[in-house]
Amino acid sequence: MESLIEGFNHFQQSVFPAQRAAYERAAKAQTPHTMIITCSDSRILLERIFCCELGELFVYRNVGNIVPPYGQQVTGEAAAIEYAVSALKVRHIVICGHSDCGAMKALAHPHELEDKPSTAAWLKHAETARHIVAHRKHSADPNAQSHELSHLIEENVMAQLDHLRTMPIVAARLVSGDLQIHGWIYDIAKAELRSFDPAARMFSLIEPSQPYGPRREGALAAS
Ligand SMILES: [Zn+2]
Repeated sequence: MESLIEGFNHFQQSVFPAQRAAYERAAKAQTPHTMIITCSDSRILLERIFCCELGELFVYRNVGNIVPPYGQQVTGEAAAIEYAVSALKVRHIVICGHSDCGAMKALAHPHELEDKPSTAAWLKHAETARHIVAHRKHSADPNAQSHELSHLIEENVMAQLDHLRTMPIVAARLVSGDLQIHGWIYDIAKAELRSFDPAARMFSLIEPSQPYGPRREGALAAS
């Protein structure tokens, strides 16, 4: 706890004064352009890696960046997505998986979840990914076993995009062209981002379009 209090003190005394005007503006309303649904993993610092300003990202986190299919039950995910789309009018929703995902490791080894019944039940929403990867493992693909975790991470993002489309408000906005959905995978060690190409059914590296420089002087990420 002490490190958090010390961190907040640093923010309050050394970071905030220089950005006071931005915080005061943001305190009145939020206008995020993008909702990101990602894993609760502590290594994913979204505002830092995307160099985002205050109020740009509407973030929802859970174990395994999962979106339960619509209609099964009332979920926090559904409420957050509805709010993001209908009230905040975000233009994009990103499902962002990541390398070394503990949830996907657990999915691959369900026996390790015997003493974690809630996690086991939650990960049923990723069962499609597990089945696809297990089927591939038993097929003739020689690389399937060694890349099992990365395949699970990819298939899970694809499955959650499918679940996202089951939400009526998302489906309607996709048809009208007011919303786009994206599947990304963030590699922590390499600082790489891969994007799902629905036409090719594969992920490809997002290449920087131009040399990156300090994008925003007041970005929270630079704090
Ligand atoms: Zn994770």
